[in-house]
Amino acid sequence: MVARAARAADLADLDGAVSDCFACPRLVAWREEVARVKRAAFRDQDYWGRPVPGLGPQDARIAILGLAPAAHGGNRTGRIFTGDRSGDVLFAALHRAGLANQPTSVSADDGLTLRDTRIFAAVRCAPPDNKPTPAERDTCAPWLHREVELIRPTLRVVVALGAFAWAAWWPVLRQVYGQRPPTPRPVFGHGAHWSGESVPALLGCYHVSQQNTFTGRLTPAMLDDVFTRAKDLAGVD
Ligand code: SF4
Repeated sequence: MVARAARAADLADLDGAVSDCFACPRLVAWREEVARVKRAAFRDQDYWGRPVPGLGPQDARIAILGLAPAAHGGNRTGRIFTGDRSGDVLFAALHRAGLANQPTSVSADDGLTLRDTRIFAAVRCAPPDNKPTPAERDTCAPWLHREVELIRPTLRVVVALGAFAWAAWWPVLRQVYGQRPPTPRPVFGHGAHWSGESVPALLGCYHVSQQNTFTGRLTPAMLDDVFTRAKDLAGVD
């Protein structure tokens, strides 16, 4: 799998390869079980039930790094953050920021396109309880590292959604940029900002989970602030 990731010539090649990954037995079993049993509301739909690739153009200047696909969201529709409430909040904010052509993302063929922005996750398969193990995170990391490598020429800012994604960024510095991560590691927080030499800036943002958005811990205005800062740092109009 590591070799397959490293060989990916471009994002299309990488997206195809990651969609065919079976490296984590627990996650493979879970993604397929969810796709077979389904949620009652989606019982007439064919679930994707496979790893979910990234979304967005090759020349992205902003990356949004999430945790992992949702069982009945990305694992159902085959597109990241698509088909669940987390995605509703995220894509509405991207649309307000001018980074998405429409405010909703409901299915892989709904016409959504992103501008200057690539979205991907630290772990590409839906995990039980949204909790990948450290071993699964590490097994999946080569996909993330190659994806960042492929957009490295234009990438200027990474928005980490939540502490898991924030922590998953540091190994990228070593693997992709050949730089030693800072010690001690900067602490995750909403609005946290870390910058290094010749590497993308890192912004922290609370995850767009239902738990955060329903309780008001993360509001649309807070998301707007994060994407305004990301655009400023990335030089995106
Ligand atoms: S989590 Fe990543 S490494 Fe594991 S099976 Fe899914 S795509 Fe492959």
